Amino acid sequence: MVTCPECDAEIDVEETDLDEGDTLTCDDCGADLRVVSVDPFELESLDEEEEEEDFLDEDEDDDEEEEDWK
Ligand SMILES: [Zn+2]
Repeated sequence: MVTCPECDAEIDVEETDLDEGDTLTCDDCGADLRVVSVDPFELESLDEEEEEEDFLDEDEDDDEEEEDWK
């Protein structure tokens, strides 16, 4: 049994069935989680990373404007 870092709910998955980099979804709050470490076992939420990627997309738009200038 593993614990969701977002809502502290227990997720019906055994730690021994998971490897580093595996992803799972919390049944209780719906958060997408990724295994970042198996010893000690550690999960992180993927929701926060998606927000950071949105900022990177804005930077790519700036690069396209520079190409038009050339
Ligand atoms: Zn949860």
